[in-house]
Amino acid sequence: MQSTTSNKKPMRRLLKATIWVASVVVIIVLTATVFQKQLLTIVATKIIQERFLIQSHKKDDGLYAGLAGTGAPFPDINRVGPCIVVQAGDHLYIIDAGQGSARNIGLMGFDIGKVDAILLTHFHSDHIADLGEMMLQRWGSGAHTKPVDVIGPKGVESVVEGFNHAYNLDAKYRVAHHGAATLPPSGAGGTARPFDLSAEENTSVVLVDEGGLKITAFQVNHAPVYPAVGYRFNYQGRSLVISGDTAPCPSLKKQSQGVDVLFHEALQPSMIKMIHDQTGLSPNPSLAKITLDISSYHTSPEEAAKIAQEAGIKHLVLYHILPPLPPVLNNMFLGDAAKYYNGPITLARDGLLISLPANSDKISINQMLK
Ligand SMILES: [Zn+2]
Ligand SMILES: [Zn+2]
Repeated sequence: MQSTTSNKKPMRRLLKATIWVASVVVIIVLTATVFQKQLLTIVATKIIQERFLIQSHKKDDGLYAGLAGTGAPFPDINRVGPCIVVQAGDHLYIIDAGQGSARNIGLMGFDIGKVDAILLTHFHSDHIADLGEMMLQRWGSGAHTKPVDVIGPKGVESVVEGFNHAYNLDAKYRVAHHGAATLPPSGAGGTARPFDLSAEENTSVVLVDEGGLKITAFQVNHAPVYPAVGYRFNYQGRSLVISGDTAPCPSLKKQSQGVDVLFHEALQPSMIKMIHDQTGLSPNPSLAKITLDISSYHTSPEEAAKIAQEAGIKHLVLYHILPPLPPVLNNMFLGDAAKYYNGPITLARDGLLISLPANSDKISINQMLK
């Protein structure tokens, strides 16, 4: 009898606990149902504040690079077209305007209304596709009275003229709807700012040199695409280089000497060959030839690693990833790169933020988009 009584006690306790938990759940569900609208309003307010109102994260003084796009022309579920946002102190620059990247700039918390200029590396479609959207968003977010500067090698004039023409009707609709005070008509579109580089190898030109910020454009080798350039940023003792599209070339190695971070494009030839070998299965008759051609004007991860080693880079980030890459194949993509470079290699996907605080050695890496 005694043992039956002692068994009942835990049973009663369990029953009580179950009733208590069930009551709490019912109260929570009822509260959530009755106050659903109010709760959703709180959630929506928070999202609006994060996504639309507090776009520019307060950052300590330093050099920052946000990878809004890390892909190339082929569709990649994890990567839109190439685009890197560089913040140096209070200055904000966009390098390249890959397809789909304009939306990621906002999602990463950069205030596109504060962009000083858009810099283009060359005029392949995957580097200019979102230029119209970026010019529009910068105008609409900042009530600017002057068009944004679009800086690039010669040829940038025709690209900007074309986008200005294509967005001309849209600009008129928006002024008519929101008024000239909100969207000053004189601020729509972009102004091309071409720079000249001689055809010789290793040429470079300093575009900005003020307030501790220096931006240098230098020639790369993306033949038969000419001109094609990379960019180097120096700010408060920190430095980074963005390769643009290029085969391995001496000028990139020269400009990259000792920089904190090299953002280098990368194509894995062995994987492109695998695609090429199976193009017979594709209904696309051009794919076989394209997959045969593209390796010649890009750089493999192994070659990028050798450049990083020889130039004394502190951190190598691979972007402009070809072919499209599901994460399960990351190691196959990197191949033997780690054999050629002693430092860390990051295989980028959209949303990567690299932070280089002023006058320090620190390099922080955060993933801003899931
Ligand atoms: Zn490209
Ligand atoms: Zn290209």
